[in-house]
Amino acid sequence: MHEPYLKALAELFYPQRCVGCSRRANDVLCRGCYEALPVIERPVCRRCGLPTAFEAYVCEDCKGRDFGFDSARAPLKYEGVGESIVHALKYRGYTRVVERLVTPLLAGAVEGDVDCVAFVPLHRLRLMKRGFNQAELMARGLAAEMGVPVFEGLGAARRTRDQVELSAGERRANVEGAFRVGGPVEGTVLLVDDVLTTGATMSACAGLLSRAGARSVRALSLCRAC
Ligand SMILES: [Zn+2]
Ligand SMILES: [Zn+2]
Repeated sequence: MHEPYLKALAELFYPQRCVGCSRRANDVLCRGCYEALPVIERPVCRRCGLPTAFEAYVCEDCKGRDFGFDSARAPLKYEGVGESIVHALKYRGYTRVVERLVTPLLAGAVEGDVDCVAFVPLHRLRLMKRGFNQAELMARGLAAEMGVPVFEGLGAARRTRDQVELSAGERRANVEGAFRVGGPVEGTVLLVDDVLTTGATMSACAGLLSRAGARSVRALSLCRAC
């Protein structure tokens, strides 16, 4: 637990760099990169969260596709500065970026009340190697902001390949049976991850949460591939 503390301390003494362009900045993001955030503007598809021309309950993209979650939202597209932020979180776990930037972005994309916040787990070997789970950092920041508990019961049952290099079909197979859930779940769960691409990982976790008793599972990612 001391590593985030050391990071926070280091950030006090070393000049800050923008996570978007790596230039020196007064905060986690410089003004230029802030203005270049690839924000997903409404209207969006109420089911999958993709931008649409008109408010819709299903769109061309998600029509006929099965998701384990009831809805998906993301404040940013997975491109440009959005991609840089995800990269910074994944490889460096900047707690300050979560506090200053990611938590407000996520909170702004939440619609309605939720009972708890869950996160896509990392397998313990990957967690040991990386030292943190960026989805967990995001979920904890958001749960504190919203004043709801974090659901701790999702775990990784086995190691999976990095989804980045896989096709949609391979992604589904890669995450099948990869997660497990412990303990009962109640009410509406907000399931957090850094990026949603095909939705395979979020679907696998959401399906488990539903079977464990969740009334509704809503997926929330910082970015999504559009
Ligand atoms: Zn910048
Ligand atoms: Zn859709």
